[in-house]
Amino acid sequence: MQHPVTIIGGGLAGSEAALQLAARGIAVELWEQRPAVMTDAHATDGLAELVCSNSLKSTDPERAAGLLKAELTQLGCRLLPLAYAHQVPGGAALCVDRERFSRAVTELIETEPLITLKRMECTCLPELAAEPDRIVILASGPLTSGALWEQITALVGDGGGYFYDATAPIIGVKGLNRSVVFAQSRYGKGGGEDYLNCPFNQEEYLAFRAALIAAEQVPLAAGDDYQLFEGCLPIEELARRGEDTMRFGPLKPRGLTDPRTGAMPFAAVQLRWEDALLSALSLVGFQTRLRFSEQDRVFRLIPGLEGAHFTRHGRMHRNSYLDAPRAIEPTLRLKAAPNVLVAGQLTGLEGYMAAVATGLWAGINAALITGGQQPQVPPQRSCLGAMLAFMTNPAHTAYAPTAFSFGMCTWLPARARRKVKVRMIRESATGAWAEMRASLAAAGSRIVR
Ligand SMILES: Cc1cc2nc3c(=O)[nH]c(=O)nc-3n(C[C@H](O)[C@H](O)[C@H](O)COP(=O)(O)OP(=O)(O)OC[C@H]3O[C@@H](n4cnc5c(N)ncnc54)[C@H](O)[C@@H]3O)c2cc1C
Repeated sequence: MQHPVTIIGGGLAGSEAALQLAARGIAVELWEQRPAVMTDAHATDGLAELVCSNSLKSTDPERAAGLLKAELTQLGCRLLPLAYAHQVPGGAALCVDRERFSRAVTELIETEPLITLKRMECTCLPELAAEPDRIVILASGPLTSGALWEQITALVGDGGGYFYDATAPIIGVKGLNRSVVFAQSRYGKGGGEDYLNCPFNQEEYLAFRAALIAAEQVPLAAGDDYQLFEGCLPIEELARRGEDTMRFGPLKPRGLTDPRTGAMPFAAVQLRWEDALLSALSLVGFQTRLRFSEQDRVFRLIPGLEGAHFTRHGRMHRNSYLDAPRAIEPTLRLKAAPNVLVAGQLTGLEGYMAAVATGLWAGINAALITGGQQPQVPPQRSCLGAMLAFMTNPAHTAYAPTAFSFGMCTWLPARARRKVKVRMIRESATGAWAEMRASLAAAGSRIVR
């Protein structure tokens, strides 16, 4: 009798993979260690929990994040419709009520007859990998439990890599000083007033920066060199890099008008709604390693947040990932164990939607393998194809986590203007989606919507 596909990890990647397999009539066992074994970042026992920001980024198909969403919709993504169903105001970005989204995914999986959810920590990867007729999807994420991480690195024969990433604080809406904080989306995008903004004048900004730089941080473990992900630096690190770095990053004032002055502020902190009840907000771009007491003190220097109540503080976490160019094939199979596929942030592809995308593709390929077919590589001109080609390119000798961007579309003419490039990428991707649907249908794995 054929084993059900075993998926290790009920995060974004594992949940999407499980639902893809079930949609193709294939039985799945989904192993999730929480709540018995928690990670440092997860706060609940819910599946597909978003650990930091509640933003799944842009929906604009002229942007990489938006085009990827359009592609995932074409491929019958299961989590994306749930995200739209639990959307909260977020301008041009798809922001979700994290609790309702996670609850919806959990309920869908728990009620899917072909998925058996087992609440247990996997510590038996060598045994699973040694059974050639058992298909495994490894989707245990950047905070994979210690015992499993040791087994993964032993199987792959490489220690993998790590970097530090932090979460941003969340505050209650009640403590805000609404005579200072104003509602406006940058350039009036989305609902026009989807974000709240805390405006700084120059003096306030400089005082805030000085306090941020001087604030006490949580010490690191002995021997750790503090490798950061350049795409998501802690706010205190940005402050340290230069006087204007924050003002050209998360605190940029462009597209905002302070109603008190009728002018653009010197800098502004944006607050994004966290939940459908509009009771809590996160500080956009405020990932931090400051001590909790220091977050209370320093972040209350932000104009309008003097009386803020922190419902969650920011925290720093060590994220693990595999050296994908050497460990993983473009089909997402592990080179050291072809019956094991890898999905999610373990691949080194950074971001919530990349986790969903690789989960979707791992689910499709696991279904093909189960049906006796060869796993497929997505066409390079699709978003997924560009991501997997980038991730497994052996020329990347020092592979570092990377978020999906149009820069991964290496087939583009280098000299074309951005507008022309974006048009070419969109047109090529649309062609690639038709190709993907046709080749999957030919392999007996049509897209299930
Ligand atoms: C602190 C932090 C902040 C981040 N912030 C953002 C952000 O703001 N925006 C963004 O786009 N991306 C962010 N990321 C990156 C990434 O997009 C997320 O981590 C994303 O959730 C990855 O999806 P995943 O499915 O690979 O892993 P996860 O969603 O983490 O899911 C993995 C699951 O596997 C389980 N698990 C682990 N070990 C075992 C085991 N041995 N047995 C069984 N289950 C196990 C875990 O409990 C977890 O539920 C952040 C990552 C971290 C760590």
